[in-house]
Amino acid sequence: MALSIPFRTLSTKLVAFMTVLMALVAATIFVFFPSRLEDHAVQSVTKKASTVAEMTAFALGASNHLKSPENVKIVLDASAQVEDLVYAMVSDPSGAVVSEINRNPMDYPAAAEVRKPGGISQRGDIYRIHRAIVADGTVIGRLHVAISLAPLTSEMTRSRRMTAAASSVIVLLGILGVYFLGRLITAPLKEIVRIADRISEGDLNERVDVRSNDELGRLGRSFNEMVDSLKTAYQQLESVNATLAYHSQDLQAEVAQKRRAEEAMRASEAKFRAVVEHATDVVAVLADHGRIRYMSPASIQMMGVAPETLIGGLAGDHLHPADRHAFESALSRGTEGKARVIEVEARWRHANGMWRYLAFRGRDLKGFSGIDGLLFNVTDVTDAKRVEAELTLAKEKAEGMVVLKDTFLTNMSHEIRTPLTGILGFAQILRSELDDDHLELVEHIQRSGQRLLNTLNAVLDLAELEALSARPELERVAVGYQVRETAHIVAPVAQLKNLELTLDLPSEEVYALANANCMQRALTNLASNAVKFTEEGRVTIAVRSEDSHVAITVCDTGVGISPEFMPSLFSEFTQESTGNARLHEGSGLGLAITRRLIDLMNGTISVESEKGHGTSFTVTLPLADQDTSRITGMRMAGPSSLKAVRLTSDRKAS
Ligand code: ADP
Repeated sequence: MALSIPFRTLSTKLVAFMTVLMALVAATIFVFFPSRLEDHAVQSVTKKASTVAEMTAFALGASNHLKSPENVKIVLDASAQVEDLVYAMVSDPSGAVVSEINRNPMDYPAAAEVRKPGGISQRGDIYRIHRAIVADGTVIGRLHVAISLAPLTSEMTRSRRMTAAASSVIVLLGILGVYFLGRLITAPLKEIVRIADRISEGDLNERVDVRSNDELGRLGRSFNEMVDSLKTAYQQLESVNATLAYHSQDLQAEVAQKRRAEEAMRASEAKFRAVVEHATDVVAVLADHGRIRYMSPASIQMMGVAPETLIGGLAGDHLHPADRHAFESALSRGTEGKARVIEVEARWRHANGMWRYLAFRGRDLKGFSGIDGLLFNVTDVTDAKRVEAELTLAKEKAEGMVVLKDTFLTNMSHEIRTPLTGILGFAQILRSELDDDHLELVEHIQRSGQRLLNTLNAVLDLAELEALSARPELERVAVGYQVRETAHIVAPVAQLKNLELTLDLPSEEVYALANANCMQRALTNLASNAVKFTEEGRVTIAVRSEDSHVAITVCDTGVGISPEFMPSLFSEFTQESTGNARLHEGSGLGLAITRRLIDLMNGTISVESEKGHGTSFTVTLPLADQDTSRITGMRMAGPSSLKAVRLTSDRKAS
């Protein structure tokens, strides 16, 4: 790892490698070649010296010249022509020197002599060759030749130095060459690396400046193409990213929505669970044949046992034997699809031993996730049953009372009205028979009898109206005509009291959807009261046709009604002045009957009054359509169809 730091760049590695390589080459040149040359030179010198020694020994042997030192000297001088020969000596067999040449006085280095094959020995730079001089097969002496290798050595040293210098120059040049070559090769690579760095930082606009067509140029072009593709891919990736981000937002929104929905579902589930578990009614799930699969905790109150005790058992086992069959057939109807809603009531034995009436209302939810059975809402209707029974009893009692009342009314009608009519008839006869002194008494009987009859009729009228189960038949009634008829009825009394009776009618007849009989009775009641409670001034009956209804107002200038009495104005048997303060006759039933009559005709009645200044009653009735008469059961009511009716007010007015 540590080594890799200095060689981080390619050019450094290249230079380092080439430097090592050239150093090796230079070292090889410097070490191997000179030593080879030296060996070669030494070999050739020693070979030459050997040859000289051989030839010299041969020459001396052939001429047997050892006897003549001069001749030996001549031969030796001839041999000394060899440049490197520094010593030559011939000795006789006894070892005595016959002749010698010593060009360079022998300087034997301290080094030991090295023996080499071929009669050669070496001491330092000096090579010595020993040869026997043979004549006619006899050794006649010995030849010693010494050759100095010093010139050779110095030459070799010089040559080695030159080689070293040359090698150094070559290595240096090589390193420089490699350095520049490296730079030349690695510069475009460096450029690519620089651009790759920029790309890694996100800049995809940089490109390699390609100027050559060589491998580096092609590499640069490929690199540029790769960057182009990368840029396109990056742009595509960005667009995909944008789409993804968009979809991711959608997805996040969807996930959030889903989460909210889940939370809502959980909350709703918790809510429904709480509702089911805290409801006073029991929620139960039954399998076919009534086996209990679920029961809510309300069973503790309703049945006196916890759901766990009931679950797994048959509902029928807890029911009254008389109700079991009905219960089971209701279940069968539900499961067979004959009834959409299963409704059955049955008595269930409470843990305290009492029978409770339970109402089972449910439906078949088999196959429904989470239920898969018959889901029932069970309500304890024991109290309702008791109330129902009480009500039935009360109804029966009330019906009995109604019958009693009807009988009473019929009897009263017959038993009171008949004798009263008799009394009035006989009073009339008496009136014609008696003298003036007793006339007042008979008139008193007549007035009281008539008053009693009026009251009786009013009571019977109200009872009759209260008992009406159906509304009276509605028809097209001419309102102006009915008002004129009413005026005729009250006119005599008004005249007696010296009151002005005014009618304010529209120029054209107005028709109301009403019942002529009822309208007549109501208007007569109101007009009679107006005349009765007015001592001076006038009574006006006005008719106004409005949007969808007709308004009939009976207005007087009489005593008026106090605001305190207003709330009980339409109640039965109520009168403003009571007891001895009563100035006017009456039963207090007229307005109660009037309001009932107006109600029956879908009308309204209102009153405005000021004490001491007068009263104004307004009745509104729906206007009749033109085609009302064509409606089944409706008929025109007008002057021709006016019937003579028995009216309380008739008698009131009379
Ligand atoms: P009755 O007239 O038989 O007493 P009603 O039911 O017709 O019974 O009237 C009840 C009471 O209403 C009357 O006793 C009277 O006090 C008051 N009342 C009705 N109409 C008028 C009126 N036009 N002016 C003043 N008071 C009236």
